[in-house]
Amino acid sequence: VRVYVPGDSSAVAVGANRVAHALERLAREKKVEIEIVRNGSRGLYWLEPMVEVTTSEGRIAYGPVAPGDLAGLFEAGFLSGGQHALRLGRPEDIPFLKNQERLMFARCGITDPLSVEEYRAHGGFRGLAKALRMQPQEIVSEVTESGLRGRGGAGFPTGIKWKTVLETKAERKYIVCNADEGDSGTFADRMIMEGDPFLLIEGMTIAGIATGATKGFIYIRSEYPDAFRQMGRAIEIARNTGYLGPNVLGSGKAFDLETRLGAGAYICGEETSLLESLEGKRGVIRFKPPLPAIKGLFGQPTVINNLLSFASVPVIMDDGANFYKNYGTGRSRGTQPFQLAGNVKQGGLIEKAFGVTLKELIYDFGGGTLSGRPVRAVQVGGPLGAYLRADQLDIPMDYEAFAAVKAMLGHGGIVVFDDTVDMAQQARFAMEFCAVESCGKCTPCRIGSTRGVEVIDRIIADQDRAKNLRLLDDLCETMVDGSLCALGGLTPFPVQSAIRYFPEDFDKPSRKAAE
Ligand code: SF4
Repeated sequence: VRVYVPGDSSAVAVGANRVAHALERLAREKKVEIEIVRNGSRGLYWLEPMVEVTTSEGRIAYGPVAPGDLAGLFEAGFLSGGQHALRLGRPEDIPFLKNQERLMFARCGITDPLSVEEYRAHGGFRGLAKALRMQPQEIVSEVTESGLRGRGGAGFPTGIKWKTVLETKAERKYIVCNADEGDSGTFADRMIMEGDPFLLIEGMTIAGIATGATKGFIYIRSEYPDAFRQMGRAIEIARNTGYLGPNVLGSGKAFDLETRLGAGAYICGEETSLLESLEGKRGVIRFKPPLPAIKGLFGQPTVINNLLSFASVPVIMDDGANFYKNYGTGRSRGTQPFQLAGNVKQGGLIEKAFGVTLKELIYDFGGGTLSGRPVRAVQVGGPLGAYLRADQLDIPMDYEAFAAVKAMLGHGGIVVFDDTVDMAQQARFAMEFCAVESCGKCTPCRIGSTRGVEVIDRIIADQDRAKNLRLLDDLCETMVDGSLCALGGLTPFPVQSAIRYFPEDFDKPSRKAAE
């Protein structure tokens, strides 16, 4: 019997390794033959460790399973899908999963992440095989036509970036994957690297074939040691099976990959800082122009994309641009893995077409707050994303709709807060975060964020409140207009949205009255 126990670090964090070891021991004692597969997570985190068994009805899930539950599960005959209080039925019938539109996460949690055979059996490498039969311009056109926009936050059209690299003449070109997933409440990149690493390898290889680059780097944040190891293993396997190397699948075209581990700086998630870090230097922002597509890694034309952008490419190549762009709304085409975190009952990964509302994600998928208290604020797009109020949750998840309310989708992270949140403290946190993570290259961010913390402290202490609020507004405008990159330029978003939508939290007398 095949038993799946996720090896994803979020499942491991809640005891999946202990469950796998106990399962092995009990099966040995009971002389039952089982094959344990350490799959990725399906992204239903409140049910982890979610153990699945293959039965005549298909895969049956049980969760959340603790080592102490296993004796009872054996007694209930769980290896053949027996009834038990933890039995969840077929995973694909669980509403959280059933109501998703999984394109890039289609395999995650289903296959053995390091099995090329299983990857292929579930449609893997078909996009690459097709790309190898096409001209580079045709691949780039297909990606452009699909409407794919960079999933890192800025939403720049991926095909345009690739076209620039393709058309720039150089001896060497590079493909760089930004897997420095540092936004609060995000975990989609990590899930792919741990749960379906060949998808990233395939997407980056297609980018190499399309632009004439023969070498790629995956820059992984230092907080992801498991993902780093898993990617390294997957690259080795892909090399040994002909999917990477001097002659990819006998096409005569070369492409190879290496992983690099960051050193814990949030700013290295910004593309030019990341390139500096990859070159072995301190992670400091570069002036633009020149664009990395023209002069990037080691001064050569470089495609630098977010991991999720590369992970979207295999399905675009396999099913075509028209299939992909049928998903979504307006200029936001395709699907986005939304990552639901914070104070929610059912946190996890929801891949849906753009256009789904925050309300649907938080209530229909997330089941509302874990505390049972009303939602008060939601932050979308990481620590630099704006805060939204509970009455704004009908906003569709779409780049333009968010920009219209001075917010951003970013990497799709959603952090939910209930009515106990103190928004003045959240605003202070944004400024403090910027002060800690600033690369120090420009004054509005380096000095402004430190002064911003001091001003917010004075507002919280009710010292010259009106004057300090004006000063803070002025400071925020200076940071937006004068910062060199998005860290300093976007930090005012959470600060100003907190003041705009939750003014009562910045007013000590009314705070006291409320208490
Ligand atoms: Fe560096 Fe901040 Fe200026 Fe960006 S805004 S270049 S992080 S100092």
